[in-house]
Amino acid sequence: MSVINIALSKGRIYEETLPLFAAAGIEPQDDPSTSRKLILPSNRPDVQFLIVRASDVPTYVQHGGAQIGVVGKDVLMEHGGEGLVEPLDLHIAKCRLMVAGYPDTQLDGQQRLRVATKYVNCTREHFAKHARQVEIIKLYGSMELAPLVSLCDLIVDVVDSGATLAANGLVPLEHIADISSRIVVNRAALKTNNQPISELLQKLEIAVKEKQSA
Ligand code: AMP
Repeated sequence: MSVINIALSKGRIYEETLPLFAAAGIEPQDDPSTSRKLILPSNRPDVQFLIVRASDVPTYVQHGGAQIGVVGKDVLMEHGGEGLVEPLDLHIAKCRLMVAGYPDTQLDGQQRLRVATKYVNCTREHFAKHARQVEIIKLYGSMELAPLVSLCDLIVDVVDSGATLAANGLVPLEHIADISSRIVVNRAALKTNNQPISELLQKLEIAVKEKQSA
């Protein structure tokens, strides 16, 4: 029996994904908010959950440490998706990847703007598409702080309600992409272990549709 490892991160994605897996008949046997275990067995002997950092999910699945992953589209776009297929949108953890800054910032002015972000690849691609020269500053968190101390002119970050931007005097300026969590599958595993993976995907797809029509 080959075991299917499902990589996912703690927090919002884990909480919103769990009911979908439960509807597909798979439930973890431990709680990652209280357990320090990084491999959580499930009620099925052939399925277990791996708790990894959100930005590491595509890497685990790409290199076969996990056969399936649950990951935000923002993380997936930044990773590039090599070695992965993306068969299912779970329609959870929705937000938008945005360019944000002070309301009076001239995006198309003469000045070469500095953009702080953890999404370096997405940012480079977005500004190149608009033929704008920018300097990208890599940060790992609290992007909203950077313009307040003149570290940058703009940020690229995920925005949900916009409350964090507003609380810091910033506004969304440009939309880059709509984001939600996706199922990703290791391309090779989909061929070698097709039947159990396809069955699981089908059940998840039904659970997503049922949730949406509820
Ligand atoms: P909000 O104030 O509702 O716009 O939320 C923005 C903050 O929450 C930002 O710091 C984001 O990094 C984070 N955030 C919002 N939505 C998501 C999401 N779906 N996934 C990950 N982080 C998010």
